[in-house]
Amino acid sequence: MNTVTEAAPAAAPEAGVARTTDPRKAVFEANKLSKRLHRQVGQAIGDFKMIEAGDKVMVCLSGGKDSHALLDLLISLRERAPVPFELVAVNLDQKQPGFPAHVLPEYLRRRGVPFHIETQDTYSVVKKLVPEGATMCSLCSRLRRGVLYRVARELGATKIALGHHRDDMVVTLLMNMFFGGRLKSMPPKLVSDDGHHVVIRPLAYVAETDLQRWAEHRRFPIIPCSLCGSQSDLQRVQVKAMLHEWERQYPGRSDNMLRAMAHVTRSHLLDRNLYPFESLQATGVADAAGDKAFDDEPCTDPTRLEGMELHIERQLDQED
Ligand code: SF4
Repeated sequence: MNTVTEAAPAAAPEAGVARTTDPRKAVFEANKLSKRLHRQVGQAIGDFKMIEAGDKVMVCLSGGKDSHALLDLLISLRERAPVPFELVAVNLDQKQPGFPAHVLPEYLRRRGVPFHIETQDTYSVVKKLVPEGATMCSLCSRLRRGVLYRVARELGATKIALGHHRDDMVVTLLMNMFFGGRLKSMPPKLVSDDGHHVVIRPLAYVAETDLQRWAEHRRFPIIPCSLCGSQSDLQRVQVKAMLHEWERQYPGRSDNMLRAMAHVTRSHLLDRNLYPFESLQATGVADAAGDKAFDDEPCTDPTRLEGMELHIERQLDQED
């Protein structure tokens, strides 16, 4: 095992350009995107009390667009946050063939953020244990998680920040429903399996397309996750493609599903541990907030309208 821990002086990265040939429009669009991202991340942090005064937040930086954006936005939000907290970026070099080990340290030095590179050859372990042709991601992720928890302990981190976003959460919800028979997604905040850390997902409200645009704009030095040569999880790819197609046909569905996760009606599911169906009795009193969801015309269903409002707000943000 080999570790490197460094802190370096502040320096801003060079900004890239947005997808337009008009420079004024590019700046305008980049500003709108920046505002939306900062607002959504700030809101998620506030809604779930993800970061508190004195926290040391370990940001897991894989080198992909999502974790790059997470670190970038947290650096920026920290400067204007009402409470003081520390950041430390951590990358795990898993010894995949062709991994460009110099890229992230160079970038992090330029950003001036304290960082730690943990080198551990989980790639060989996975290659040895997983049969040829089978997907390696599940074991790889489990090993990576274990290493990151240990590093968090060693660094004295109080929070571990991961770069999962809105689309990851919605896809996971569908995957668990379709293939796992469970109504569960990725929580925005949870206690780690080992019980020692609070894991947070500050990008919970952020759309993947926005992260893609931000990564292009900021010209992050992206390291692809495909270096290991593993096949992607086919079921996840299929669900994601289905969601994209659905979103294309009916814009706003992903936002609506995210909203649904935050508005659970326990009495309208089938989990007997969540609602006392056995002891249910007629009260003889009309309930103003009773079961009306399926009686309403679609255009008057408040949850649909709110979901659409959120979508329209995103559209306006993008088009302004
Ligand atoms: S793509 Fe490769 S590096 Fe990424 S999780 Fe899967 S096995 Fe691990």
